[in-house]
Amino acid sequence: MQQIVLASRPDGAPSHDNFRLESADMPTPGDGEVLVEVHYMSLDPYMRGRMDDAKSYAAPVPIGGKMEGGSAGKVIASNAPNLKEGDMVFGPFGWATHAVADAKMCRKLDPEQAPITTSLGVLGMPGLTGWHGLMAYGKPKAGETLVVAAATGPVGSMVGQLAKSLGLRVVGVAGGADKCKTAVEHFGFDACLDHRAYDDAKSLREALKAECPKGIDIYFENVGGKVLEAVIPLMRPFGRIPICGMIAWYNAGGLGENAGGAGLTAPKLWRTILVNFLSVNGFIISNHWDRFPEFINEVAPKVASGEIAVQEDITEGLENAPQAFMDLLTGGNTGKAIVKVV
Ligand code: NDP
Repeated sequence: MQQIVLASRPDGAPSHDNFRLESADMPTPGDGEVLVEVHYMSLDPYMRGRMDDAKSYAAPVPIGGKMEGGSAGKVIASNAPNLKEGDMVFGPFGWATHAVADAKMCRKLDPEQAPITTSLGVLGMPGLTGWHGLMAYGKPKAGETLVVAAATGPVGSMVGQLAKSLGLRVVGVAGGADKCKTAVEHFGFDACLDHRAYDDAKSLREALKAECPKGIDIYFENVGGKVLEAVIPLMRPFGRIPICGMIAWYNAGGLGENAGGAGLTAPKLWRTILVNFLSVNGFIISNHWDRFPEFINEVAPKVASGEIAVQEDITEGLENAPQAFMDLLTGGNTGKAIVKVV
């Protein structure tokens, strides 16, 4: 079997030197465990945080340790009563061609109901994140205006599509004209602005203002950086900001405190929260897995019927995972980033 380990910690943006492809002996499942052949592996922005030796909500990957992540694959040996050879499962198998896992950590998939890749995106952790974050903290109401960046990714596209179906005006922010076209034409956003087309937060703000003439009721925070700077003064009284992620600062390391521009943002942000009576809620989806069945019951039929559109960006080969991951951090992905392993 093959796996990718963390060779060294990045200083800023990750590079190929930070990863190492290794061969290893095929693991053997113990009692209650299964051996899985990994077919599709998820790439997610949170993995950047795991590469740093910084205090966070999850422990860092140790140097020499397998890169962590969720994957979908086939059980090829089982010592667990509830899973058998041939079952398709989702689980924490990491960046590897094969993995042994506790069967309790695996979720059985039904490929007849939805392609197994959807367990990594629209019907998996990122989809749940968008759904829970929007409904629990965004508290959307018809007629309001919502802005979300990383609009064509699995979180942003879920947020935008759900908000649109609830009768909100939905304005996306994405990197590049093609992604903006996808947000509007494929995901049904009312408008989408290319953040790369604006030199600074001020000019992006002017464009956002034109698309959000009544102001912004919900800013679903995925990115931080220039987009956050642009949005702050446009928030309406009693607006809501679910804080989901801040990818623009991930490569700055140290949880973002070294990030350029962050120092300017803080005073403006605090004052806006005060004078506009905003509700700002950070959340980490791993604390909300109890909502997964409710999410699947509500959203899976919408995916099956096409009401919720899906876009996946699939890279072939485990050895290409580091490059695909580096691309994800800088917007090189179009849709849910996935690696086809087998
Ligand atoms: P995406 O597939 O959307 O990929 C990340 C995207 O971020 C890139 O494609 C790029 O899109 C955008 N991006 C990168 N750098 C910048 C920048 N400097 N300014 C603006 N946009 C940038 O990722 P996900 O949908 O999986 O995740 C979206 C966010 O949600 C991330 O911040 C992630 O960490 C967070 N998240 C949080 C969870 C939680 O539990 N709180 C769980 C899951 C995700 P573009 O080219 O369009 O700019």
